[in-house]
Amino acid sequence: MAQLSDDCFAFGGPMMSVDEAVGIIAARVKAVEEIETVALKEADGRILARDIFAPLPLPPFTNSAVDGYAVRSRDLPSGAETAFPVTGRVQAGASAEAIEPGHAMRIFTGAPMPEGADTVFMQEDVRLDDAGKVSLPAGLKRGANVRPAGEDIAVGSAALKAGQRLRPQDIALLAAFGLTGVDVRRRIRIAVFSTGNELVSPGDRRKPAQLFDSNRFMLMAMLGRLGCEVGDLGILRDDRAALEQGLKQVAGSHDLILTTGGVSTGEEDHVKNALEGAGSLVLWRMAIKPGRPVAMGIIQGTPLIGLPGNPVASFVTFVHVVRPTVLALAGASQQPLIPMPVRAAFSYRKKIGRREYVRATLREAPDGALEAMKFPREGAGLLSSLVDTDGLVELGEGITDVKVGQTVGFLSYASLGSGSV
Ligand code: AMP
Ligand code: MG
Repeated sequence: MAQLSDDCFAFGGPMMSVDEAVGIIAARVKAVEEIETVALKEADGRILARDIFAPLPLPPFTNSAVDGYAVRSRDLPSGAETAFPVTGRVQAGASAEAIEPGHAMRIFTGAPMPEGADTVFMQEDVRLDDAGKVSLPAGLKRGANVRPAGEDIAVGSAALKAGQRLRPQDIALLAAFGLTGVDVRRRIRIAVFSTGNELVSPGDRRKPAQLFDSNRFMLMAMLGRLGCEVGDLGILRDDRAALEQGLKQVAGSHDLILTTGGVSTGEEDHVKNALEGAGSLVLWRMAIKPGRPVAMGIIQGTPLIGLPGNPVASFVTFVHVVRPTVLALAGASQQPLIPMPVRAAFSYRKKIGRREYVRATLREAPDGALEAMKFPREGAGLLSSLVDTDGLVELGEGITDVKVGQTVGFLSYASLGSGSV
């Protein structure tokens, strides 16, 4: 029986699977409509509002890929080295004259191909003689070392998709098209509260039975990495009326309200009741460990997510509930989390029917395979278990035990947007 009472999943009642919760979010949460134009320098991480079609081909003109000598391939004898007089010179940014038949033209990387020329010999592959002729080896294919206009991207082709989060390479593409700005969705605004009489903010005086609020800062940082504007609403006391009032006050002025703590079933867990008082509950309790108690609801049209208070539970449920909600609100396409297959260096038993996340560190085994080592302790309150590991091993609902050597799926913190790479 001791085991049963230790098990925080002993409490009965229906629980929603992670996939069901994500399905509800996808069906119910609508993207913000406002679109703004930002300069390219401000565009990193923003969500593209419209598809982008190439307004010009890339490269815009046919040019040389190397420093060397441009020729007309049909002038070359087949199977024999030949020497051509060198006439003309074209460098990057200059316009080229037409090439004379039977001649080579000096050319540099990025310079436009002279009219009539179709092939470039690399300067390393040729010899210049005293008479100013260049000896060209046999066997170079027609079109070698030439970058045809549009070989990278054809004019009019679909280049970037609405809903994608702009990365440095996407911004490079927009610049290559000559665009100075780009239409993106407005940033979403999120109100973040912690709840709990035991919490004080760093910088305030801590009484002996109090602890510094860490979740709020973790969550605000995670939201920042998702490109959100965050409103820091501080700490609410464990009091239903105060909670209800606090939640109502921010509904309407924010796109999402996020709370941590107070969503469980204890008498001092008031978030669920406050949510039911101020609005309506959509989801409560998920089949996920760590993290089971998670509340989701709507207050005056504004969605609210109540995450559990234990830091690891808060982190894990953020990834699986808050992240998809934020992406949906922001108009971002959902990027499914794809666990990377690694070898388990641990054994583990779990209950069927719920999804579990085990904090783990990666190491390279002597045979070169990547192995996941489980953090030695399991408590959902251990911040060190998040700080000292590389990611989460995902154990699906159908799994009951993991054996050493078995392949498991690993989600790095970097892939979750909470890592250093
Ligand atoms: P609760 O979900 O409110 O029952 O809290 C579960 C555990 O998490 C308790 O030990 C709390 O003290 C702790 N906790 C709740 N909120 C926070 C927070 N914002 N930062 C750090 N720990 C917290
Ligand atoms: Mg609490």
